[in-house]
Amino acid sequence: MRVYNFSAGPGMLPLEVLERVQKEITDYDGSGMSVMEMSHRSKPYQKINDRTEALLRELMRVPDNYDILFVQGGATNQFSAVPLNIGTQNRKADYVVTGNFAKNAYKEGAIHLDAAVAASSEDKNFTYIPELTPDMFRRDADFVHICYNNTIFGTRYVAPPDTDGIPLACDMSSMILSQEVNVSDFALIYAGAQKNIGPAGVTLVIVRHDLTERADAKCPVMLRYDNQVKNKSLYNTPPCFSTYVVMEVLNYLKERGGISAIQKVNEKKAKKLYDYIDNSSYYVNSVQKKYRSIMNVPFVSPSKELDEKFVAQAAENGLVSLKGHRLVGGMRASIYNAMPEEGVDALIAFMEKFKKENKA
Ligand SMILES: *Cc1c(COP(=O)(O)O)cnc(C)c1O
Repeated sequence: MRVYNFSAGPGMLPLEVLERVQKEITDYDGSGMSVMEMSHRSKPYQKINDRTEALLRELMRVPDNYDILFVQGGATNQFSAVPLNIGTQNRKADYVVTGNFAKNAYKEGAIHLDAAVAASSEDKNFTYIPELTPDMFRRDADFVHICYNNTIFGTRYVAPPDTDGIPLACDMSSMILSQEVNVSDFALIYAGAQKNIGPAGVTLVIVRHDLTERADAKCPVMLRYDNQVKNKSLYNTPPCFSTYVVMEVLNYLKERGGISAIQKVNEKKAKKLYDYIDNSSYYVNSVQKKYRSIMNVPFVSPSKELDEKFVAQAAENGLVSLKGHRLVGGMRASIYNAMPEEGVDALIAFMEKFKKENKA
């Protein structure tokens, strides 16, 4: 039986995609072999690599002066790759710390360059996004780094900040392809695939081409954007199977009407869940409303004991991985693209039943 999986990552994938992969698992497109067994230099794999890039370019309307890379090491590896590739002019970068991943990016940046915290929301346990104005950034910073959606704390930016021309680097791991973004508002976007676009193992980087030409001389070759650009992400053996599944997810998204269509569904799912929580007088989400994530929804019940009971009973009812992150506690429902609206309905129905049976 398939369950509704509310995991923050790796997250759910569309059943249609999994079934398609299953059908092709022993013989991909008449090649007589699985993508798992295929040379990354073979024709069928080159086609997968090219097609994945083309689909992404189309779905996100990536302008021609941006390169698209499929690399390894997760979003975490980009915490090092970004400063080593684009933080090389004045060796200064400003970070906005809105959660744990944003903070880890800052800490890694500080190893390689003069990193400053331009703003932070740690004072209120990351329950909001600081208002940002251009004067908060150092004029000679090589880049400003933000994390668009804070997976653990359930916040998101309403719009990208105005940096007045300083290149903006953005971790979009937990919201990529969930809503429309204007790629040209960013100098660099990166995302681990396993939240919203595929299996773990492949990481997406979208980078303005001129920024790929300033890597630090000591930047490891695998992290160098210019090297990956030149080799079309095939410098060494790439995570072929993960990239192939990403291609199938992108195909599926395109068939469903693209990002504007999935955004509508995502907003509807999130509104339903937040409306229910706000009107429940039992469950609480403590994020400032304006900054609520439409992907990750943390909430608590009236007590820690009830939280534990909730997570256990929900799992018995086919609603799994609802335990909140240890830094926040309570519950967290990650409702990525692949979570159908019926999954959110089932969660709300369970929440209501649990509330009736467990008065505070
Ligand atoms: C999950 C996540 C990461 C870490 O991703 P890895 O691919 O595991 O390195 C970084 N940033 C955000 C926003 C995330 O959600």
